[in-house]
Amino acid sequence: MKREAHNGEFEYMNAEQQAYFLEKLQDWRGQLMLEATRTMKTMQADTRNFPDDAERASQEETLGIELRTRDRERKLIRKIDHTIDLIKRREYGYCRVCGREIGIARLEARPTAELCIDCKTADELKERHLTD
Ligand SMILES: [Zn+2]
Repeated sequence: MKREAHNGEFEYMNAEQQAYFLEKLQDWRGQLMLEATRTMKTMQADTRNFPDDAERASQEETLGIELRTRDRERKLIRKIDHTIDLIKRREYGYCRVCGREIGIARLEARPTAELCIDCKTADELKERHLTD
């Protein structure tokens, strides 16, 4: 990564960093799309035959798991799309609540993070039972 001086420090979220995260998110999205296609095929295969009640119950259980997986994948893809949009609007990398820098290390670990660690911690304390 090229070093760009900015007030004696490296500029946060410069063009190169934006390009890096954009590529990372697009790769991730591509993988999820492949997985979503595979999940859908499994679901279609599962609904074809129901030989007996016991098997039907087990297939319906599998189907439930696949549906939840697919739901998670869809939500994540939506979140990635939203994040890609933020990069394109040059708003990526700043906390949605306080506006401070989220930080490269945190974004590296969680590219879709929209909150800085302080706001995220406060949020989790407030709504511990909910996922973001
Ligand atoms: Zn914050």
